[in-house]
Amino acid sequence: MAVVVFSKIGIIGGGISGLAAAKQLAEYNPIVLEATDSIGGVWKHCSFRTTKLQTPRCDYEFSDYPWPLRDNSTFPSYTEILDYLNSYANHFELFKFIKFNSRVIKIRLAKDKPVWEVAVQTNGAIDQWYGFEFIVVCMGKYGDVPIIPKYRKKKGPEVFKGKVMHSQEYSELSRDKSCQLLKGKKVVVVGYKKSAIDLAVECAQANQGEEGKPCTMVVRTCHWIVPHYFIWGLPFYMFYSTRFSQFLHQRPNQGTLRTLLCHLLSPLRKATSKMIESYLLWKLPLVKYGLKPDHPFEEDYASCQMAILPDSFFMEAEKGNINFKRASNWWFWEGGVEFDDKTKIEADLVILATGYDGKKKLRALLPQQFSTFLEFPSGIMPLYRGTINPFIPNMAFMGYVESVSNLHTSEIRCKWLARLIGGKFNLPSVEKMVEQITTEMEIMKKTTRFYKRTCISTFSINHTDEICEEMGWSCWRKKSWLAEAFSPYNSQDYA
Ligand SMILES: Cc1cc2nc3c(=O)[nH]c(=O)nc-3n(C[C@H](O)[C@H](O)[C@H](O)COP(=O)(O)OP(=O)(O)OC[C@H]3O[C@@H](n4cnc5c(N)ncnc54)[C@H](O)[C@@H]3O)c2cc1C
Repeated sequence: MAVVVFSKIGIIGGGISGLAAAKQLAEYNPIVLEATDSIGGVWKHCSFRTTKLQTPRCDYEFSDYPWPLRDNSTFPSYTEILDYLNSYANHFELFKFIKFNSRVIKIRLAKDKPVWEVAVQTNGAIDQWYGFEFIVVCMGKYGDVPIIPKYRKKKGPEVFKGKVMHSQEYSELSRDKSCQLLKGKKVVVVGYKKSAIDLAVECAQANQGEEGKPCTMVVRTCHWIVPHYFIWGLPFYMFYSTRFSQFLHQRPNQGTLRTLLCHLLSPLRKATSKMIESYLLWKLPLVKYGLKPDHPFEEDYASCQMAILPDSFFMEAEKGNINFKRASNWWFWEGGVEFDDKTKIEADLVILATGYDGKKKLRALLPQQFSTFLEFPSGIMPLYRGTINPFIPNMAFMGYVESVSNLHTSEIRCKWLARLIGGKFNLPSVEKMVEQITTEMEIMKKTTRFYKRTCISTFSINHTDEICEEMGWSCWRKKSWLAEAFSPYNSQDYA
């Protein structure tokens, strides 16, 4: 089928990254192709009834569209986030750009011109080819392609008499159906990240009273979990989100003197991490339940893996409604789940909160000659300014290099991208981009063993400074040097 619709800019995905891209590139009348019937991405499709934002409102906000009650310190529910996003899209008239129920199933380069051709499925078959000069990929790291554990022969779900589902399937259930599913069932939740924790709480809530059955979390790697944004009475941002606190951490392109200073100050950095750990160990029964991580807090923060606990999590554990089983390996038996220490537990339902494979989702779409560059040169997706893969022409990727506030990061990168496309500045050479990416990756590798998650949280202000410099903006955006050093940076600083 020939290309029938042409536009300068195509945006794939209508989550926060796609919305931010549509807003910043609105002057080009972009076409936003969204696979589902709504905007919001993970907030619509990977959320459960209890899912809440983990970032304070004022850190998860578009720079020109404040949250109503932005100083309210409670975390908004996923429905409040969806309301906020819908209201943003309405206010800036973004819906006119979005084509819903339009799943991109293939991307290829045109034979005779520098145009990406994109096949879109609307009703099960390829309905339309689009042509774009530039594509912004905003398909998200989460959702769509679940990671399913691999099992040895006769150790997989086929031998299990109960039901197995991934958290994605669970998130599609209505409030009533999800309660019905869990009520009175022996549930095993595999995983110990945010979704798994929320799931365990939902199991416990559905299993109150005498008829209720406890839920068991299968935990492979313990991560630090945080009850709220205060540590020993100090606001959390003081530890990692101010220029002063980030001064202690390595950052790309630092001179020899700064490298030396970082080295000398490393005891202070470690002390900060220890201070947070000591608070968490005091506040939460991590030792009692065998949930004390083996790695420093800082490594979870630096890999964007810090989860905020729902209030009732350990209360339910105390009541016996949530149990924990530490295990590196597990498999199915007829009546439930078996572990490498030869113990077994019975289960009616096993929910795999084992995450998503965002790269597989991308690999399936991109032409083969480009998909190999998704992990080149070091097994991590190389993105200059968290956005441009130096080896893939006329394409940007939003939402793949994470921070503590992904909305802020996506928005500022979209502003940068709009100026790049508008010719306000040029990209450096491929070699220079690779050099910058390599430096960032080296820092991530030095900071955390979980560096493959590509997260910039310990040098996020510097990351934005570099973006500002390239756009010709001032990096120093506060009113006084005191605020510059000790107050946190968020989207409003870049309005
Ligand atoms: C449970 C959960 C809690 C989280 N909590 C926080 C938090 O508190 N703070 C924070 O900063 N981040 C959080 N995150 C990270 C979150 O992913 C980002 O904040 C952000 O929402 C990602 O937005 P996105 O637009 O990049 O991707 P997504 O929200 O994943 O949106 C991608 C969109 O692309 C569409 N799409 C996918 N494939 C195709 C295709 N082939 N064709 C067309 N459309 C397609 C999808 O339907 C979807 O709408 C959380 C993530 C999860 C899963």
